[in-house]
Amino acid sequence: MLSERAKRIKPSPTLSIDAKAKAMKAEGVDIVSFGVGEPDFDTPENIKEAAIKAIKEGFTKYTPVGGIDPLKDAIIEKFKKDNNLNYKREEIIVSCGAKHSLYNIAQALFNPGDEVLIPSPYWVSYPDQVMLNDAIPVFVKTYGSDSFMVRPEVVESHITKKTKALILNSPSNPTGLIYDKKTLEKIAEVVLRYGVFVISDEIYEKLTYDGLKHVSIASLDNEIKAKTIVVNGLSKSFAMTGWRIGFAAGQREIIKAMTNIQSQSTSNPTSIAQKAAIEALTGPQDFITMMLAEFDRRRRLLISELNSIPGMSCLTPTGAFYAFPNTSKLYGKSIGDRTILSSSDLSLYLLEEAKVALVHGEAFGDDDYIRLSYATSINEVKKGVDRIREAVNRLS
Ligand SMILES: *Cc1c(COP(=O)(O)O)cnc(C)c1O
Repeated sequence: MLSERAKRIKPSPTLSIDAKAKAMKAEGVDIVSFGVGEPDFDTPENIKEAAIKAIKEGFTKYTPVGGIDPLKDAIIEKFKKDNNLNYKREEIIVSCGAKHSLYNIAQALFNPGDEVLIPSPYWVSYPDQVMLNDAIPVFVKTYGSDSFMVRPEVVESHITKKTKALILNSPSNPTGLIYDKKTLEKIAEVVLRYGVFVISDEIYEKLTYDGLKHVSIASLDNEIKAKTIVVNGLSKSFAMTGWRIGFAAGQREIIKAMTNIQSQSTSNPTSIAQKAAIEALTGPQDFITMMLAEFDRRRRLLISELNSIPGMSCLTPTGAFYAFPNTSKLYGKSIGDRTILSSSDLSLYLLEEAKVALVHGEAFGDDDYIRLSYATSINEVKKGVDRIREAVNRLS
């Protein structure tokens, strides 16, 4: 009955683990959840007020498909201010979340059989979005010893005549690491040589630590800017995951195709959310500073605790809100008749026996790791790592 396309893909594993943890919680089980990929903060008041005002003023009808001009202008300002990137309105599209922008790009760019390079570990939706559009994900492995940055020469060795694009994600989900400018320059040099597009997912741009700053590959020079589609959104930086506002910037022809595709699928993103988005981008930005300081506190605690658990080792993430410890030393250990052989075995064991929800690294393409989101209170972080330590210590 179903299309080959539908059979090719799987549900988002991070969303399903979150659903499972929420269901256990609803049954009264005291779960500590490191599973979710969304800030635990409430959307700031000024943003909510802007949406309420929009409703009261009757701003509740269709808008232009790719977003209203004042929002596009706020996005243009954001690119100028944060990334030193200059775009025109025709080079911007607002979609129903960054995920939707990414999907529109896949629809606009990929032909059947095109190859798309995805550094792994990767965000869960990239391979499935590529496959939904009849293209082929080609994974380029990265290593903790390189801070999970893809090596430019390894990118080059994976390029064939069919390579259409490279997907970059910095700061990264799941690794929490940030690409440095030098590496980006070398990657730009390689992709330009072969005419490969870059899809740059910068949704965590505002969430960086230790004084590091995000650099957009598109900002390096005009040549790479023309080959890059930058994706960003409000979900992570303004705790607006439910509002569904994301956006993309790129050359006019691609944005126009994305807008046509959007006009035949979802139409405009929610009118009310667009008004809220203008307030988010142009209003006070102190919310981000506050949220970031709190994330930083949790990050420091979580990383040092994880590294003190025998068999686990974790790089210090410099962006986003995830810890990505290597747990491969625990594989082969057992308790009773249960043997832990993989990241899924470990995460299931921790869910059932420690009542801690987290995501197996295999979901992100690397079974040697697990992912913990610290978008949860510092007390929960403490309680959660204590439980993990205790459960891991019982393995032998
Ligand atoms: C959360 C996330 C997104 C999607 O964000 P939305 O705007 O909520 O669709 C995209 N990319 C990465 C890496 C993410 O973690």
